[in-house]
Amino acid sequence: MTRLAAGGRIEAICGCMYSGKTEELIRRLHHVTIARQKLAAFTPRRDTRYASGTLVSHNGVKIEARTIDSVHNIRQHLDHGVQVVAIDELHFLDDPAEEVRAVCQQLADDGYRVIVAGLDQDFRAEPFPAMAALLAVAEQADKLYAICVCCGAYATRSQRLIDGAPAPTAAPTIAVGGLELYEARCRACFLQPM
Ligand SMILES: [Zn+2]
Repeated sequence: MTRLAAGGRIEAICGCMYSGKTEELIRRLHHVTIARQKLAAFTPRRDTRYASGTLVSHNGVKIEARTIDSVHNIRQHLDHGVQVVAIDELHFLDDPAEEVRAVCQQLADDGYRVIVAGLDQDFRAEPFPAMAALLAVAEQADKLYAICVCCGAYATRSQRLIDGAPAPTAAPTIAVGGLELYEARCRACFLQPM
């Protein structure tokens, strides 16, 4: 029997749009820096909403993040002494879910604290496979909520709207920088795409 490196773990932070996932990720990473631990943060290149990979919280805490094209690029950027590996916007990774899970599991087995954040469901309220897989194997899983714009209940779904109507179910799962609008909605107010 082989014992794995101590301290390794996976933390998954998930939820719908506007649920504060990145804010929670930055909060944890800020604590990592206060503890003088070395971290490496990554964000998939497809997220074009921000000019650089920098993660910025509402209260101005900044965490430098490297943009990556694949989860397989992470290893080469882990300098000596890194203890914490963070991936924001996990759902933007193009890699198959089993590869994302395998890489994160190996990092945790090697002793890294791996923290991932991202959407748990797409605009059809279908699970994002990579996040679903990591939620299952994570030591710690946190599901955050937004507030439903229609009724004020806790929102768990991301409604993608095009000209005010739900996006068709055939629309691409990932649409960044388009004219789409997203609303956080509860189960009852969410309109299932047709
Ligand atoms: Zn509602």
